[in-house]
Amino acid sequence: MPASRYKRILLKLSGEVLMGNQQFGIDPEFVAELAREVKLAKETGLEICLVIGGGNIFRGMAGAARGMDRAQADYMGMLATVMNALAMQNALEQLGVDTRVQSAIQMDAVCEPVIRRRAERHLEKGRVVIFAAGVGSPYFTTDSGAALRAAEMKCDALFKGTSVDGVYDSDPKVNSQAKRFDSVTYDRVLADNLKVMDASAVALCRDNEIPIVVFSIREKGNLARVLAGEGVQTIVRKEA
Ligand code: UDP
Repeated sequence: MPASRYKRILLKLSGEVLMGNQQFGIDPEFVAELAREVKLAKETGLEICLVIGGGNIFRGMAGAARGMDRAQADYMGMLATVMNALAMQNALEQLGVDTRVQSAIQMDAVCEPVIRRRAERHLEKGRVVIFAAGVGSPYFTTDSGAALRAAEMKCDALFKGTSVDGVYDSDPKVNSQAKRFDSVTYDRVLADNLKVMDASAVALCRDNEIPIVVFSIREKGNLARVLAGEGVQTIVRKEA
């Protein structure tokens, strides 16, 4: 794998990519596959912060739509992200990659709390740091958590690995004529409400000039290609 152009990145994975071909939950084989990709990326010398969503287990909005209290449902969603973080930690450590999980909701028996300076030390020592439980507050998503951690950990870019291979001008699953952007500005994403990450996450990246690289994590080897500036991706930045 060629050396990356970046020194430190934040990799955000949607919870749904941990399902593999299942409809729900965690597929350990698929998590192991993702962990192999992260390991390869790390071996190029990159410092890696990880944020994993929880949508494969529980989303607060879905609970609220079915009559639950939104905040209560969101806390359940945040707990789901901790389970995913522990699954990924397990897979990475089975490959010999030292990993620490830091949760925005304190859970001393299973992981560390989020402490920026401690996270810095972990990265310096070559550990992967997985930030769990989003920002620790309801009414947010793990996209906002990812943008926040990318900013405070001074990451060079936020890589969003999802099941779509970039940002389109309309939903490619609905419109076969949808056009994918190679690059697009933060302002266009916000003005046209393009499906990248939620608006608060995009705004935080814009204000801190953190490029967002959207790519498909479902294709084997794609993280490596995208890190090397190759492969199919969309970069969201100040100027397209
Ligand atoms: N969540 C929250 N605050 C946060 C992060 C997450 O309330 O800071 C909850 C919210 O209910 C969300 C769920 O956790 O739906 C799972 O996260 P997300 O939907 O971002 O997961 P993804 O879509 O990336 O799998």
